[in-house]
Amino acid sequence: MAAYRPLSDADVHSKRVLVRVDLNVPMQDGKIFDATRIERILPTINELRHGRAKIMLLSHFGRPKGRVVPKMSLGPIADAIANALGEPVFFVDDCVGHKVRDAADALKPGRVLLLENTRFHAGEEANDQNFARELAGEADVFVSDAFSAAHRAHASTEGITHFLPTFAGRAMQTELDALEAALGSPAHPVVAVVGGAKVSTKLDLLSNLVSKVDMLIIGGGMANTFLAAQGKPVGKSLCEHDLTDTAAKIMKLAKSASCEIILPTDVVVASEFKAGAASKVVGINDVANEDMILDVGPDSIEVVADKFAAAKTLVWNGPFGAFEIEPFDKGTVAAAQKAAELVQAGKLIAVAGGGDTVAALNAAGVADKFTYVSTAGGAFLEWMEGKELPGVAALAARATA
Ligand code: AMP
Repeated sequence: MAAYRPLSDADVHSKRVLVRVDLNVPMQDGKIFDATRIERILPTINELRHGRAKIMLLSHFGRPKGRVVPKMSLGPIADAIANALGEPVFFVDDCVGHKVRDAADALKPGRVLLLENTRFHAGEEANDQNFARELAGEADVFVSDAFSAAHRAHASTEGITHFLPTFAGRAMQTELDALEAALGSPAHPVVAVVGGAKVSTKLDLLSNLVSKVDMLIIGGGMANTFLAAQGKPVGKSLCEHDLTDTAAKIMKLAKSASCEIILPTDVVVASEFKAGAASKVVGINDVANEDMILDVGPDSIEVVADKFAAAKTLVWNGPFGAFEIEPFDKGTVAAAQKAAELVQAGKLIAVAGGGDTVAALNAAGVADKFTYVSTAGGAFLEWMEGKELPGVAALAARATA
């Protein structure tokens, strides 16, 4: 069981409550183009407002590497939070020190104050004890509500929990409960889909999953490396030929762990990576030298659909093909729709996560039909790998402390 003290256990009335959120929202030309992360923190903020807490929001933004970088200020985001809340949000241009103390002293119960980017201080990423103590110094209670930052042992995710009574916020709780339901003690058979571009970025994931799941379905560019390891022709497809030995080792590991590995049996090929490029379906033994594999074929999709239908739990990271470019989105869309249909029929628990995966499920129109979709990238992958997330471990340690 994921262990934590829920927000409802905290005595917050008139207390200064520091909430670690993830406001690292995607921005383009000074505008937020996806406000999902802001929407997800509203339940915690609203609950604290009703509880008459003095709410102080803490977050990182970008990678300023311990220096003040004005274009990475959280200032402009205060307005977006205010709009979402329908309440003003005050902003102070530091996250420690006298400015924070003055602002916290002036803050009335039920009001919200946003502090400046934690990563403007080198102590944040170094998880420096003194910096963590300073962060904690102006608050009475700490609420951790940023699962997507929990894979990093930073001062605002881990260090601070040593200095304040610590609770899980509602977004964190929702995430932990959903992930626990999927892989904590999951209903078997458990099927994992790992897709995406390269084996090299997901080596730990692939190696760790084979001992946890009953079946591993490999899709996307990374399947090509596995196919090449089996001696199949991959033409000029994206393929890490230097990792074919590693792919062979993973397949061996899977065999000894009784984890079945499913690779494409047919593929969609084109001669160029371009929208609307002329494409055709070929069997897995018939990929020509000039072919580029850009999606799985219809037979493979049928196999995947059958495997999903026989599964009880599905965890998914990475697309089956170059889904951003039509018509190479077909495999991902069809598989996602099948999984969503099974979830809606009450036959499958399906949890997916990672930036590209969320985009792919959105493109397939099924993100809200999965059991849970995590917007966390690195943290979701590390969780899927079975690694201990420092920010989550800290919640467990403080739950019994
Ligand atoms: P990742 O970030 O590792 O999950 O990879 C996602 C990216 O993999 C997407 O941008 C896809 O376009 C890309 N991708 C998936 N399948 C292929 C493929 N067969 N060839 C080239 N790129 C692919």
